[in-house]
Amino acid sequence: MITVLKSSATKEQRDHLISWLEGQGLQVHVSEGKEYTILGLVGDTGHIDVELLESLAIVESVKRVSEPFKKVNRKFHPLDTVVTVGGASVGGGSFAVIAGPRAVESREQITAVAAAVKDAGASLLRGSAFRPRTSPYDLQVIHAEGLEYLLEAKKATGLPIVVELADMKDFDLLAEVDVVQVGSRNMQNYEMLRALGHTDKPILLRRGLAGSINDLLMSAEYLLAGGNANVILCERGIRTFETYTKNTLDLSAVPVLKQLTHLPVIVDPSHATGRADLVPSMALAAAACGADGLMIEVHNDPLHAQCDGAQSLTPPQFAQLMERVRRVREAVQS
Ligand code: PEP
Ligand code: MN
Repeated sequence: MITVLKSSATKEQRDHLISWLEGQGLQVHVSEGKEYTILGLVGDTGHIDVELLESLAIVESVKRVSEPFKKVNRKFHPLDTVVTVGGASVGGGSFAVIAGPRAVESREQITAVAAAVKDAGASLLRGSAFRPRTSPYDLQVIHAEGLEYLLEAKKATGLPIVVELADMKDFDLLAEVDVVQVGSRNMQNYEMLRALGHTDKPILLRRGLAGSINDLLMSAEYLLAGGNANVILCERGIRTFETYTKNTLDLSAVPVLKQLTHLPVIVDPSHATGRADLVPSMALAAAACGADGLMIEVHNDPLHAQCDGAQSLTPPQFAQLMERVRRVREAVQS
């Protein structure tokens, strides 16, 4: 349920109402806008007398929220959430590009890619050191060294890093990692989401292969319900009958999510298409349709990449794409 307060409401009146609502067993989520203050009420609101609430002098309006997601709902929190990591911001009008290889393969590889993507204007560096793979026979992980090389690259470039967490038992190893990625296969790992919700680590939550928009928002709700509001959503393609591309990029999810939630939404055209030749067009389309950023796979030697070389751009291709993205952003903003 949402209660919109009049701008004339004093802090004292507001606090009085909040403590009354809390006394009714509700959690009150306060969102202050320029004109109005919005109280998002979470819990069993069935026993609340809407007419009574509406009759209070400081109350502008009361609405029941029909969606099952509450804290991620834009109705609860009309202003965009901005997730700040290191010097980078995701959401709220800034455009963040996360770039790097699918997997960290060697010190030389990650160091070279990190320097190149930074030069081209990326604001965060990605690289998996712990990765769930579809086949148990595929290259699995290079754990500790992978992470160590990423941290060296972070130090050398100043870029905050995004690393996937495959198992909660490894969480403590990610103390110096700036953003923890929850992969598609873990989008509905509720135990992991619940545990991450109790941390203050920024989370990049990727849409599951068969996850609906509602499923994605409900997974994000787990994180926010635990108290962690530093959440970035990532559309990375979903499974459909189409086999020409690795997944089907659901770009309409971007404007839909932007309507439904205040959380930032980024797009990963590399995993979505699985093909480097399609990455630029889909990246430009994502920038045009209102995404808050991109995640792009970049490898210094895609032909010899240990995994996902086919979907990786080379550093020069990435630099060229960044320039085109900048122009598309300029065009759609004007
Ligand atoms: C990845 O980003 O490397 C990854 C494994 O993505 P997803 O979980 O979306 O497949
Ligand atoms: Mn993947």
